[in-house]
Amino acid sequence: MQGRPDHWSRFEAARAESRAESPLHKPSTCQNGSLIESLHPEASAARARFVLFDFDGSLSLIRTGWMQVMVPMMVDALAELKTGEQEEELRRVVEEFVWRLTGEETIYQMIALAAEVRRRGGTPLDPLLYKQRYLKLLWQVIRSRVEELRRGHCSPDRYLVPGARPLLEKLKERGLSMYLASGTDEAFLKEEAGLLDITRYFDGGVYGALDDYKSFSKRILVQRILALPCVVGDQLLGFGDGYVEIEEVERVGGITVGVATNEPECLVVDEWKRQRLIGVGADYIIPNYLHHEALIETLFRPADDGKTSSVPPPFQP
Ligand SMILES: [Mg+2]
Repeated sequence: MQGRPDHWSRFEAARAESRAESPLHKPSTCQNGSLIESLHPEASAARARFVLFDFDGSLSLIRTGWMQVMVPMMVDALAELKTGEQEEELRRVVEEFVWRLTGEETIYQMIALAAEVRRRGGTPLDPLLYKQRYLKLLWQVIRSRVEELRRGHCSPDRYLVPGARPLLEKLKERGLSMYLASGTDEAFLKEEAGLLDITRYFDGGVYGALDDYKSFSKRILVQRILALPCVVGDQLLGFGDGYVEIEEVERVGGITVGVATNEPECLVVDEWKRQRLIGVGADYIIPNYLHHEALIETLFRPADDGKTSSVPPPFQP
């Protein structure tokens, strides 16, 4: 197996350092020692017709490390206010809202930062300016990866969660209609999905954050799918490493797979993600898709006393 390029090692060192202080950021194997942790073993996707995938951290590793860019940037912005709070306290505050909004459009995390600045008596910048600052810092981390892919200097699979492509192919073979949704700006999402050569799997479409951020969200997409003729909640299967996609699919009675990727290797479960994904009701937890055959078997075994069809709630954009 080819080694990871240098920038991965550099990133991993920084990541290990930043996470060492937080007891929550520890990878582990699945609790029962198996590769697929079943929180709700009765949950079956046998009736699934639609699949919703999150992008960053769930399929793509291009933006791996985004949280280690966003959190320190926000902690710095709050520390400048000199409220007397310790850096560790500020980090906890920031991590809480960053996680809660993970999967939503990035601007919502910046709006939350502005609110925290205001709450401490400061005058926040326009959230759009915070977002620009964040994207500039993030670009320094991801630039070499994007350029490596653009130049064709590596296989697209280098920046995919292990096992993702065979899983996507298997889901496609089953005739499922597939959707890709991300809180990352749509122009970036479309380019990065293209570079990873996965756009072709998503016949349902590739959806990212728009300038008019109120006009699209994962919730709106889920409701659009449910508004299709004769569609009910348990016909939807969702995969994601973030709060929002899991919560939105769970909310309508769909089946959810929490992909607790410990990026970039993704060989063991990231305990920090796992705890949070379980907290929002994930039915299954996996560290990657390497055991896609067992995963397909688990997910699509015939439903017995599994989740029953439910009538979707009315659409409220
Ligand atoms: Mg994600």
